[in-house]
Amino acid sequence: MNNKFDYILELFYAIYSIDFPVEISYGLDGLSKIQISKGDTSFFDGDSAQPETVVWKVWNEEKIPFLFDGNDEKEIIGVVNGQVIINYDIIASSFFFLSGWQEYKTQQKDRLGRFPYSESIQYKLNLVELPLVNYYFDILKQALEQVYDKELKVKLWGDGEYGTFISHDIDLCESAWKQGSLSELARGRVSSPFYLLSKKLFSNDDWFNFDLIMELEKRHLAKSTFYFLCENKKVNNYPNADYDISDKKFLPVFDNILKNESELGIHGSLGTSNDAAKLKLEMRKIPGDIEGGRFHALVYDIHKTPDIIEEAGLKYDSTLGFAEHIGFRNSFCFPFFPYDIKNDQPYKFLEIPLMVMDATLKMKKYMGLTPDEAGKAISSLMREVRKFNGCFSILWHNNFYSNYKFSGWREIMEQVLQEGSTEGSRYFTGKEISDIYRSQMR
Ligand SMILES: [Zn+2]
Repeated sequence: MNNKFDYILELFYAIYSIDFPVEISYGLDGLSKIQISKGDTSFFDGDSAQPETVVWKVWNEEKIPFLFDGNDEKEIIGVVNGQVIINYDIIASSFFFLSGWQEYKTQQKDRLGRFPYSESIQYKLNLVELPLVNYYFDILKQALEQVYDKELKVKLWGDGEYGTFISHDIDLCESAWKQGSLSELARGRVSSPFYLLSKKLFSNDDWFNFDLIMELEKRHLAKSTFYFLCENKKVNNYPNADYDISDKKFLPVFDNILKNESELGIHGSLGTSNDAAKLKLEMRKIPGDIEGGRFHALVYDIHKTPDIIEEAGLKYDSTLGFAEHIGFRNSFCFPFFPYDIKNDQPYKFLEIPLMVMDATLKMKKYMGLTPDEAGKAISSLMREVRKFNGCFSILWHNNFYSNYKFSGWREIMEQVLQEGSTEGSRYFTGKEISDIYRSQMR
């Protein structure tokens, strides 16, 4: 467990500024100022995907589970002879979630090869909207503050209270005239198709709306990352882009995005999550050095995709969220290095976990919420992230800014920006987060 302990501490130190030497032991050594009790970690020698039992305790007014321990009678933190003892194994519990252990050990996949939310322990314990690992880290943080009599602060967001990472996967930007018209006709609005068609013919499709998105963001001093799909053929009958990335009309779009200090990234098409050569070919179709991306349809196979990301030379990824439900796939509201379970060491690329995807909220087969309900759900998730001064990560597709087929959804994104401004968020591109994070590691 030594590598795993170092890994968890490294992620802890990357978040909090600690400029003094600390003594933390994993296991009760009777000497160190802070000692973290070891649970039954033989779990990680086996092939079970999830632990069979958990114990529940209250921390920070929230009921949270501890793994690898059967005794719920202990205090979470105790003091013995001036030494602070953390009585539950926050290291193994954190490692379980951050490493994606349950995905690594399960055989369950959906039709796109994704780990299904319904198979996750977060679903079974009903806590996908809690960043549990941050609760575990908070226990260690308070122990450190108590022993060393110093306040620990998050050091990643400059003068901001928390960070926000807005991203846009560009799947469809030429189809409002068709899909928007059908949706309008279904609502009995017979004149809209003429408007949408003439807009497409004489200027741009209503979903070709990059300027509109950037205008809205500028009003809140925000910026974002645009992930472009570089494949427009279907794969296994699943659609990729509705546009050709090599079309000259994208050149001014790319220019504008960069001029606004936003970022261009790769939206790896279906199949690239296990094909580094294809991913690299696609990356070359977007100008500049591409440092990060997200796979289309959130396809990510823990056995293959991390190696593909490294082989393609990407510095960060932002695929890890559940398509079916908003919340925390790794139960963590900060960037982190994914873990290579096979070689028992962290990967070099950074994961900026995805917490909210618009389609997750809207689609009937996922959460099926109205825009109003969705706004409330996002707001409560943002509160959870703010509790820990974390990094709120949200994906809003460009067509969700359109009044055609997606009316009411742009306003929800505007609410998110408004709430961010009110609550002291700062906005970062994925590349900036990756740079800041690495520069703060000790
Ligand atoms: Zn996509």
